[in-house]
Amino acid sequence: MDFDFFLLDVDGVLTNNLAEVSEPVCSEVSRLTREGAVVCLATGRSLDWLYKRVKPFLSKSDYSKLFFVGENGAVWCSFNSSFEPLEGREPEFNVPEKIKRASREKTREWPLLFFDESKTAMVSVESRHELLKSDEDFSASQEQLGACHEYLKGFENDFLRATRTLYACDLHHSGANKETAAKRAFSLAETRPKKILLVGDSEADLRFAEGLPQESGFCFYFVGEEERLRARPEWVLFTKNKHDEGTLSLLKTLNL
Ligand SMILES: [Mg+2]
Repeated sequence: MDFDFFLLDVDGVLTNNLAEVSEPVCSEVSRLTREGAVVCLATGRSLDWLYKRVKPFLSKSDYSKLFFVGENGAVWCSFNSSFEPLEGREPEFNVPEKIKRASREKTREWPLLFFDESKTAMVSVESRHELLKSDEDFSASQEQLGACHEYLKGFENDFLRATRTLYACDLHHSGANKETAAKRAFSLAETRPKKILLVGDSEADLRFAEGLPQESGFCFYFVGEEERLRARPEWVLFTKNKHDEGTLSLLKTLNL
């Protein structure tokens, strides 16, 4: 194995089934950077979320080799030698303030949802996990997410897209996606990788492969539930363990 660049999704890749960030996976990430590889975490989450939930576990990294890309490529950061972030953003990907304000206001109508204030480019409305104690609560949250998705779809135009997952509805610029996130990762690192390891757990993560420098070889490992993947390009590899445990066993077997 001679991977020198790692591009990892975060939710379901660095996290366990309780959505908690895995400390052992983060230790492996730090080890890889210390051994000379570049590691970029690329997610739909905000930078603020990454700073609070992931960064504390990465303090043993070589900071010059570590990068975060958030909100699917709309925001990003590298780190200085004191592990302070140096942020950048793509202003074109900002959802207009007027739409953000209206969506924030509208979200008050759905008691099981909240408006994610940490996002700076996109609108993200999420389930309040702490309130979902029964199947009825979960069904009610799904109904509210459905209503929210319909509402956000009303803002769709040539650039804005409304998407829905099991726990969130987003309104984002169509240019913010995993392909853009991958391109951003490679331009941030200013390196020409020889071999790239991609790790994801959802269909959207397959687009990492579209953002790679052309001459680079890559492997893509899928650590999510296999039935979540409808399209299966022949280059997708599957881990035996899933989510953080799959990522951990994968990273642990790599010697640079
Ligand atoms: Mg994920």
